Amino acid sequence: MRKRMQKQDQQKEPGRESAREDTSTSTELGRSGIKVVSRIERDEVLNALIEHSSDAIMVLDEQFLVRESNPAARTMLKLPRDEEMGWKCREVLRCKNLNRMELCGTSSCPLTRALQQHGPLPNEELVVGSQRESFCEVSASVTPVDASDGRGAVFTVRDLSALKVASQVRANFVSMVSHELRTPLNSVHGFIELLLQGHMGELTEEQRLYLGYTQEGVQQLISIVEDILFMTRSDLGQFETRQQGVQLYELVRLVTRNLQPQALKAGVALVLAIPQETPLLYIDPQRIKQVLNNLIANAIKYTPPGGSVTVTAREHDAHFQMITVTDTGYGIPLEDRPHIFERFYQSNHSQQSKMGGYGLGLAIARLIVEQHGGTISFDTALEKGSSFYFTLPIYEGARQDTL
Ligand code: ADP
Repeated sequence: MRKRMQKQDQQKEPGRESAREDTSTSTELGRSGIKVVSRIERDEVLNALIEHSSDAIMVLDEQFLVRESNPAARTMLKLPRDEEMGWKCREVLRCKNLNRMELCGTSSCPLTRALQQHGPLPNEELVVGSQRESFCEVSASVTPVDASDGRGAVFTVRDLSALKVASQVRANFVSMVSHELRTPLNSVHGFIELLLQGHMGELTEEQRLYLGYTQEGVQQLISIVEDILFMTRSDLGQFETRQQGVQLYELVRLVTRNLQPQALKAGVALVLAIPQETPLLYIDPQRIKQVLNNLIANAIKYTPPGGSVTVTAREHDAHFQMITVTDTGYGIPLEDRPHIFERFYQSNHSQQSKMGGYGLGLAIARLIVEQHGGTISFDTALEKGSSFYFTLPIYEGARQDTL
């Protein structure tokens, strides 16, 4: 395909090509004194670069067929040497997310996403390989290219195994510390609860007030520790979902009921606009409650008094339902938009300091939604509000229960 692409260049830009031809016949010193290399030499250097690169490089076409590959790709994916190209991407790459969920045929497939967005997809962390023993954690970049015989993409894959060992040691440590913190924090929380309930004697109003503040602080610490534990477990590949057929309406009702006191305090109306006839979803109810909770709590937090937060659902396609949380809040500043799903990212927005939080809510929401095979995104307008929407699989019968 590389050769074909060069040919296409020649046809498109005859003027430029003739200039190149001039340099292809000789090698001479350029104006800066640096040796000017001919086109043939340049091609040889490029070929050598690709052949000897430790990164696996592949060219895939729109039919998901491997058209070209370098030796590093053949070694990484255990492809037979000099085998005729034309492997199906699914047979050799078979991309999975870090939780080993297969992305082939889903909207999260990196090739599909790069082709759809007509732009490169840099540094996707994936697991590739068709057999468990050859699974390899990689950082992949996918760059769409147009060739005379159709569109395709260059897939560059860097092995992260060695790096992963080091970060796994770190994740294990963080996980252990978080776990050790959780137990004493839970008992502090429990004892404060007993004190507040008057089991150790009557409290004055002032004691009650200060104990209340302490309780809030401990609760916040517990949430942070739980979230960090969740993230590190997921990094260690220990995050599993227990999916089943679930009524979305009931789930959203539970979450909005729990968040009602927070909404009342903020002067924000919570509106549940999910049609009763919404189909059953194939989800892990505890995890999706966490997603809804994070999105609705954010919507309340970033909406001024008098505003509203509305939860709706509609069909996305034959297999997915789309759930949307819309607020009439401050909106998200332009400079924050590319980063809000990153771990620990918080806006410097003037409102931020008053809001609390620690920047894990959206990262966790995305992780859970993607683990269900869905996608999450948002629209926003300053001083008008934001809409966060995500897709979840529809329950298609008992067949899924046996998966
Ligand atoms: P935080 O704990 O800071 O809320 P999140 O990961 O939930 O962390 O959100 C990351 C950032 O995204 C927030 O700090 C905020 O700047 C922005 N954000 C999230 N939801 C909204 C929203 N509904 N309206 C405006 N900004 C939002």
